[in-house]
Amino acid sequence: MNPTRIVIVGGGFGGLAAAKALRKTPAGITLIDRTNHHLFQPLLYQVATAVLTPSQIATPIRTILGKQKNTTVILGEVTGVDKERKCVFVSNADRENVPVEYEYLILATGATHSYFGHSEFARHAPGMKSLADAVASRNKILQAFEQAEAEEDPGRHRDLLTFILVGAGPTGVEMAGALAVLVRTTLKSEFRRIDPASARIVLVDRGPRVLHPFSEKLSKAARQRLEKLGVEVRLGHSVDQIDADGIVVGGERIASRTVIWTAGVAPSSAGSWLKAETDRAGRVRIQEDLSVPDHPEIFVVGDTAYFEESGNPLPGVAQVAMQQGRYAAKVIHSRMIGTLPPGPFSYFDKGTMAVVGKGFAVLQSGKVQLSGFGAWLTWAAVHLQFLATSSLRLTVFLQWIWTYVTGQRGSRLIVDHYGPEPGMEPKSTVIRSAS
Ligand SMILES: Cc1cc2nc3c(=O)[nH]c(=O)nc-3n(C[C@H](O)[C@H](O)[C@H](O)COP(=O)(O)OP(=O)(O)OC[C@H]3O[C@@H](n4cnc5c(N)ncnc54)[C@H](O)[C@@H]3O)c2cc1C
Repeated sequence: MNPTRIVIVGGGFGGLAAAKALRKTPAGITLIDRTNHHLFQPLLYQVATAVLTPSQIATPIRTILGKQKNTTVILGEVTGVDKERKCVFVSNADRENVPVEYEYLILATGATHSYFGHSEFARHAPGMKSLADAVASRNKILQAFEQAEAEEDPGRHRDLLTFILVGAGPTGVEMAGALAVLVRTTLKSEFRRIDPASARIVLVDRGPRVLHPFSEKLSKAARQRLEKLGVEVRLGHSVDQIDADGIVVGGERIASRTVIWTAGVAPSSAGSWLKAETDRAGRVRIQEDLSVPDHPEIFVVGDTAYFEESGNPLPGVAQVAMQQGRYAAKVIHSRMIGTLPPGPFSYFDKGTMAVVGKGFAVLQSGKVQLSGFGAWLTWAAVHLQFLATSSLRLTVFLQWIWTYVTGQRGSRLIVDHYGPEPGMEPKSTVIRSAS
């Protein structure tokens, strides 16, 4: 008899947690992801600011699940779901919309960045969601310093050395802090025509405070820390325009060659594949066992799901995705082996943290609110613990100590992934500069 087929779409926090929790289930599990790696998104900003290399925050999904004999990993993009035929459609480099059948389906396809209806901003302000995004931002930042050093006219240095981050949530704050440390320490003595420490870093948000998911007290501590690091914090105004010359915010133009989008996110297309009820943002409304109404065999978990607890939606964070992934796996396992299913899903909030520059973080967990070095040590320990493999934990730990002590960064490369068109003269070498 053929084993029960369980299809998991997405090898991020939710999908991977589900797959691991199904390791002893007597089923054939297929995990499909459009990338070949599991990405630790909370450290993307460290790749963008050259502290870590891409391979220190991502691991091939195949490697993580290599020893799990009941699981097959497929690299492919899911383009739709047929609920009646019980199959998902998968496209890859040479095949389109190939049906893959399931008895149980877990959708864990996460979110992407949202430009709040201004898709034209994307061209000039890359977001921060994938490894490619982080490397593109790193290229942009390092390139700006190189261009400024090569530029004889000091009048043009100002625009080149102005860095704008749009969105003062955890990603924007962490990025701004790391960028401030980069320019004031690592790069300080390496240039001759420019002073990297004079770089202007501007953090913009339409909300009234930075780190809105945190308490006012921690938000204030984070803002003070940013300002101490020399970051200009501009709150209370939406960005009206982003173009090649900078941004317009609150009617004022700020000239800059480097704008990075660290604001909103939008869920994946899972809601439209399922034609299911969604919230206004497009997240699939799921039931207390995380299944889709009228489809007990389909589960949606993580950033692409909408789940309320005590009247409030759960936040789009890694812990929610992992706990939901594990829970969905438990429900499927219990149904398959005929044991009692677990009670309704309930989220255990372990707390939230954000780093603001070197040796400083804010931490909120229940009634505990901490800021400073102690919070930073906790942040470091927790993040190391959640990296996918022991080798990553070790290399990231060593890199952090090295960077902390010497100020040197792990990966200051400007890497142009797009070589010259076939038949054209090369304009530049692929790797243009290295530290
Ligand atoms: C820059 C940044 C910083 C963050 N910092 C923190 C933090 O400090 N703490 C925290 O708790 N959370 C943080 N988060 C949020 C956290 O990363 C997400 O909540 C978490 O990743 C959600 O897990 P998920 O499984 O729902 O989605 P993801 O982890 O995003 O995984 C989705 C997976 O689905 C795959 N996929 C998507 N669409 C398809 C498709 N059509 N076909 C095949 N595969 C597909 C993707 O390739 C991806 O691997 C951060 C997020 C970002 C972007």
